[in-house]
Amino acid sequence: MEFPNNYLELSEKANMCRRLWGIDEYTPIDIFRIVLEKVENVTICFFNTEENLSGSSIRSKNQNIIFINSRHPLGRQRFTLAHEIYHLKYDKEFVNCDIDHGNDLVEEQADQFASCLLMSNGALFNYEIENSIMEWNLDKIIQAEQYFQISHKAMLRRLKTLGKISEEDAEILLPGITYEAQIRGYDTKLYKPFSDDKNLILGNYIQMVKKASDNNLITDSKKDELLLDAFYDNLVYNYEMDDLIER
Ligand SMILES: [Zn+2]
Repeated sequence: MEFPNNYLELSEKANMCRRLWGIDEYTPIDIFRIVLEKVENVTICFFNTEENLSGSSIRSKNQNIIFINSRHPLGRQRFTLAHEIYHLKYDKEFVNCDIDHGNDLVEEQADQFASCLLMSNGALFNYEIENSIMEWNLDKIIQAEQYFQISHKAMLRRLKTLGKISEEDAEILLPGITYEAQIRGYDTKLYKPFSDDKNLILGNYIQMVKKASDNNLITDSKKDELLLDAFYDNLVYNYEMDDLIER
């Protein structure tokens, strides 16, 4: 079997990341909770943006800031978060990530890393054995993507990468996933947005604003403004960051 460029290396990087976080290779993870818990000074922002932008990440002034498209389904958002972790760990300080990135090498690598972080090779092989899977059909694929909480598209792509389904199968099995999951009795929240709240922010930024307000560094109205308005510009351009960072 021929793996794409650097696949094994990226898979090992994802395993290393799990080890660093103290999580074994086999357990499905709640990536939002884990990142908020394990990544230092991290802020995750859901923002309503154009459909083809998945997310972006910024490393600045000791802060790790990740943007996720609030309109995308939860499975996609989980994948985007794992993808952005790759950029924060191994890449330059600011990136914007489109859904269609053509053959951009770094984007490909971030995708492979994300796929392996959410579902390691070991976990997938183990899953196959435990569930006696000899051949992957739609029933089994949906069951596995629900177990690992990975998007349908990412699941198909991974099985294709590992030579477990063909390119044609991946295309045939792609459409209508919400309906297909529903008629099999699965919860469809994986295929719907986690939050379409335009200004949902999780993590460190909220704590910084609260602390600055508690220490009277900012007024109450400034606090509301920082939490509700123009948060994207604030975070991206660090207009207000200096007021918030503790010295
Ligand atoms: Zn990217």
